Amino acid sequence: MRKTKIVVTLGPSLDDYDLLKEVFRFANVARFNFSHGSHREHEKRLKLIRELEEELKKPIVAMADTKGPEVRIKRALNVEKGALYDFSEFAFEPKDAVASFEEGDVVFVDDGNFMFIVENGQLRAMNGGALKENKGVIIKGKGFDLPSITKRDAEDLEFISSRFDAVAQSFVRSPKDYNELRAIVGEDVVAVAKIETKEASRVYESLVEVYDGVMVARGDLALSIPVEELPSLQHRIVGVAKKHLKFSIIATQLLESMTSSPFPMRSEVIDIYNAVMSGADGIMLSGETAAGFYPLEAVRLMHTIALKAESEFGERQAHLLQYHEHMNEYKNVISFSAVNMASVLSSSIIAPTVHGTTPRKLSRLRSDADIYTITPNKRTYRLLTFFYAVFPKLGDFEPIFERFEELKAMFELPKAVFVFGYPPGNHKTNTIIYI
Ligand code: PGA
Ligand code: MN
Repeated sequence: MRKTKIVVTLGPSLDDYDLLKEVFRFANVARFNFSHGSHREHEKRLKLIRELEEELKKPIVAMADTKGPEVRIKRALNVEKGALYDFSEFAFEPKDAVASFEEGDVVFVDDGNFMFIVENGQLRAMNGGALKENKGVIIKGKGFDLPSITKRDAEDLEFISSRFDAVAQSFVRSPKDYNELRAIVGEDVVAVAKIETKEASRVYESLVEVYDGVMVARGDLALSIPVEELPSLQHRIVGVAKKHLKFSIIATQLLESMTSSPFPMRSEVIDIYNAVMSGADGIMLSGETAAGFYPLEAVRLMHTIALKAESEFGERQAHLLQYHEHMNEYKNVISFSAVNMASVLSSSIIAPTVHGTTPRKLSRLRSDADIYTITPNKRTYRLLTFFYAVFPKLGDFEPIFERFEELKAMFELPKAVFVFGYPPGNHKTNTIIYI
């Protein structure tokens, strides 16, 4: 089984049920982009995903991705290189966004495809072309003066909280944004911070500490910081996520060229391989599956590259060493030993869990063994679906000491190393190993 988790963005290219089913043979998380589409459209797609989950008999997480405090242009424009444009010609939304423009600011539109410089209260075009409406706007190195959760977000989050398993929050700037999010969606939804602002690039560790997981949202992030800082930042975010037992997702342009071509750019193939090798839990497809011409080819290729990278994880020892400083604590030495036992015995691991801590500790060691887990807690079940090598099932496991054989049979495993805390749910994680 592939251990890296694949996130697929839904959209018009995936509205055919049979195609969607083929795509989700490979994918683990369905991403619903709330920058586009109505609640009715999302509701319709959500129903398809729930049907698929039943049919494919595997967990599929429904993750909503908020619009956030973003600025878009509401008018299409034929841009001429070198020309000056009044702010009003772009019909920025929200309108007061222009108050944030200052002399000399670099303004990116449409993912950086268009670049302008603020000059005497106007925008000078650095390049030309046909600019379509509804494209996103970013001021390089600067945020817009907008609330983190806009009125529109608040309405969307009300809708999301009762229906979705997870929510990815766009343009997060501070750990306070987490409290605002929780105030609306409650405690059960898995919360993901999208790291894509300059502010977040500075405080990513404090975001990792409060959210359940993080997304390296490279599209907007690359426009918000000097672009040469992106690769090292990606690596640091992935490392810090593991330190705090949180999951990380690498997003945007992993197979961008496959939006319109059946064969990828070579650099994209290497990017995916490197993301897996560097220890990311998940990798994501955006426009490739939502609006591309080759959604199934893209997800299948992503699967193949990840599988190949995992098979070459000769550096597992490096991951183990990275956490060596935490290993001299009894809570961690048990998971460390379990992974080594599974390796010696060439067996899988079964980790019954209430809060998910034991499987998360096993996952970050990049075990060669698959980590099967059973939990009675729906939130834990959804959360664990995001983690590398963890395969959760929803159900009871007590009385655990009488049910080892039954659990092995349930996961169709001839042998297994069991790791769990006892008594369950008391936060004294992974205190017992049973072979
Ligand atoms: P988006 O977020 O696709 O919602 O913009 C991802 C990114 O910015 O990379
Ligand atoms: Mn973004």
